Amino acid sequence: MENAPLIDPFNRAVTYLRLSVTDRCDFRCTYCMSENMTFLPKRDLLSLEELDRLCTTFIGLGVEKLRITGGEPLVRKGIMTFFNAMSRHLDSGALRELTLTTNGSQLHRFSDDLYAAGVRRVNVSLDTLDEEKFARITRWGRLPQVLRGIDAAQKAGLRVKINAVALKGFNEEELDRIIDWCATRDMDLTFIEVMPMGDMGEENRLDQFWSLNDLRTRLGERFTLTDLAERTGGPARYVRLEESGQKVGFITPMTHNFCESCNRVRLSCTGQLYTCLGHDGMSDLRAPLRENDSDDHLADAIRTAIGIKPKGHDFDYSRQVIQGQTIRHMNHTGG
Ligand code: SAM
Ligand code: SF4
Repeated sequence: MENAPLIDPFNRAVTYLRLSVTDRCDFRCTYCMSENMTFLPKRDLLSLEELDRLCTTFIGLGVEKLRITGGEPLVRKGIMTFFNAMSRHLDSGALRELTLTTNGSQLHRFSDDLYAAGVRRVNVSLDTLDEEKFARITRWGRLPQVLRGIDAAQKAGLRVKINAVALKGFNEEELDRIIDWCATRDMDLTFIEVMPMGDMGEENRLDQFWSLNDLRTRLGERFTLTDLAERTGGPARYVRLEESGQKVGFITPMTHNFCESCNRVRLSCTGQLYTCLGHDGMSDLRAPLRENDSDDHLADAIRTAIGIKPKGHDFDYSRQVIQGQTIRHMNHTGG
């Protein structure tokens, strides 16, 4: 049984781990962080060696896809050491894909090294192509730096996918421009519905909420949309725009219709395992990691945690009050 795959109580195999390597970020996107964030003390973070041990244990239990996220993963000191170390699992064939989600600000520095470590695809989060709006939504980010990073990534041979949060009254009028820009650069594009994460303090997410059903209808006015059967085990659904051949994804985390095929878990930079994006319930893996050198002990703790993965989640905007709102910030567990 020691190396039996991770199967949850609803018979779903867990093969995909999303790992947040830091809660820090060089941006302060309004829907993700407050301007004056208090970050975790460094001692609470797992060291790069601990992250390696945890990931290696998960991979030993059947995880085949590892996505590194944050915070901004590329601002974690020494992060390339970690990527380089993970590449041994690609070499052995145990890991099928090593990838990351990034705001793109450091890609001009790291793209070549990421490629050399075996990364082939990156998701870059970008909500607008307007410099002034970009500065407004990210507060601290600068668009030219991100565009330079995307250039570097493509030049290095990385396939880039753009993730854009759909925000009412913000990037609605840029829909065509973003679509055409991605087509020109041969990048896939996924829209994400804004989620009620964090304390909701200064911005009311209901005001920002732009339903992807509306967005899809808008797209349908310009393109012939063909639904694609492709499923990732996550909340993304894809269409092809027949006129341009582009693939466009929609991530609607508030809908419940993907939970039954959910194959993923999230690990925070402090070693907390979240088995469902919509639940605050988590299992601490840092204690078993630190109290014992035995990987079997750690594997047992992982199995116990997977054994309580909930069936589904509870986000719901339908009654115009925010139900099922989780209290943690997105940068803690990663997106
Ligand atoms: N810093 C990296 C980045 O921005 O790509 C990785 C971490 S970020 C938390 C991961 C993704 O979560 C980004 O695509 C971001 O747009 C998305 N995100 C953050 N807060 C969100 C929210 N409240 N609703 C929907 N998506 C959100
Ligand atoms: Fe940073 Fe990503 Fe959150 Fe923006 S969405 S503040 S880039 S972690």
